[in-house]
Amino acid sequence: MANSIYETVIGLEVHVQLATNSKAFCADDASFGGDPNTHISAVSLGHPGTLPKANRQQIELATRLGLALGCSINETNTFDRKNYFYADLPKGYQITQDKQPICIGGALSIKLGNTWKSIRIHHIHMEEDAGKSIHNMAPRHSFIDLNRAGVPLLEIVTEPDLRSGEEVDAFMTAMRQLVRYLEVSDGNMEEGSLRCDVNISVREQGSTILNDRCEVKNVNSMKFARQAIDYEVRRQIGLMESGQKVKQQTLNFDPNTGVTSPLREKEDAHDYRYFPEPDLPPIVLSESYLNKVKAELPQLPAALYETLTTQYQLSDYDASILMEEKATALFYLNLVQHSPNYKAAANLVINRILPWCQEQKISIAQFPLAGNQLAALIQLIEEGKVSNTAAYQNLFPAMLAKPEQAPLALAESLNLIQTSDGDFLQKIAAEILTQFPDKVKEYQKGKKGLIGFFMGELMKRSKGKADPKVATGILENLLKNH
Ligand code: ADP
Ligand code: MG
Repeated sequence: MANSIYETVIGLEVHVQLATNSKAFCADDASFGGDPNTHISAVSLGHPGTLPKANRQQIELATRLGLALGCSINETNTFDRKNYFYADLPKGYQITQDKQPICIGGALSIKLGNTWKSIRIHHIHMEEDAGKSIHNMAPRHSFIDLNRAGVPLLEIVTEPDLRSGEEVDAFMTAMRQLVRYLEVSDGNMEEGSLRCDVNISVREQGSTILNDRCEVKNVNSMKFARQAIDYEVRRQIGLMESGQKVKQQTLNFDPNTGVTSPLREKEDAHDYRYFPEPDLPPIVLSESYLNKVKAELPQLPAALYETLTTQYQLSDYDASILMEEKATALFYLNLVQHSPNYKAAANLVINRILPWCQEQKISIAQFPLAGNQLAALIQLIEEGKVSNTAAYQNLFPAMLAKPEQAPLALAESLNLIQTSDGDFLQKIAAEILTQFPDKVKEYQKGKKGLIGFFMGELMKRSKGKADPKVATGILENLLKNH
């Protein structure tokens, strides 16, 4: 923050759309998209007499995320009704969890440069989404698409532990990665599967009081979150400095202007007349159920980072790229089961395999070469049998064309095996020096850079098969004594 006597205090309410097949309380298709108002039924339209039914998959995904975040799981948790009127909420209430949410406490570690910071979670509750109102299709009409109405969400409420836009960005990035690793959600921000409300207040540095805050609604990109925070911090400092109070408000952020504006006065819990949902019994989770979900958790990103940077001694940069997607991390972990050269394996995945998959528009899980084949390629390079250039320009594409062939046999058939055969290289080197006497003289007068020229010639004549180290040695020796 420009003005260092102030500190920014931020807490997030993160909404994650769960990757269930059906909606939270009925069998409607929960997938994103579809023609407007096609993923609906009497239940999601809120017709009188219809009854909700809890979704087993929603509960399992909520439990999985809670356990991964170290929350305590509320073994008896209950649903409540949150009442409000809006055209995209056909029932007139949202089914949510108020008194007994499924997860309490927990924390998520975020990485800020080279340090880690733990952001505490207040609780996580299950709820259903509302429909979507579309106000910009016609000047005097609004449209409503209820495909999203009743889709299962988790709301993750953090403690006000975040201190800047950068920290919010790191938190959302880590949360996106976690929900994708856990296969709890696709974490797609553009499609709204991951979005957050940002609560912002400002106080003097060193103070521990929580001042009145504003809540910026439904931010679905990190760029906008940072802009909204910057704007809001400046606005609140301005108010404080001119002796005014910050009003508790719910704000909308307009990405076109970069400005927040009041949406409504902040509502209190009593405005919603929360009461227990009479149509759904409490969700009771047994210890054996929790143990089963816990046992099935995959390796989590934080532990994986540790493995990559300590056991495999990768840099922070390499580890971060390999971890971005779980499929890439699994691919790498499999590859190093076959190859002891961890760094070369990381380079191969990052510089060759990922770009190739991107070009082919396939997931790395579908990459056609097996771990042992790739390990053999790495070994050919490491042992100096195939030059780096020949390996990636010729051998790698040949392997992709014939995934079943052994790399060594392929390299031999393509004539790519480097030679460190002294006599052969000696003969070519001597020919070159005879052919370019002027260059030899210049070299001997001190223009040592010409070694590159001689090496170029030698590589050409050996068809790229000369072992560069051996060849350089031979050339230098001959030039000295020529
Ligand atoms: P409500 O239910 O009214 O939205 P909560 O107390 O549950 O309010 O808090 C919602 C979010 O606001 C939480 O993420 C919390 O960390 C954050 N928050 C609470 N007080 C402050 C504050 N003074 N400044 C910034 N964030 C805050
Ligand atoms: Mg709130």
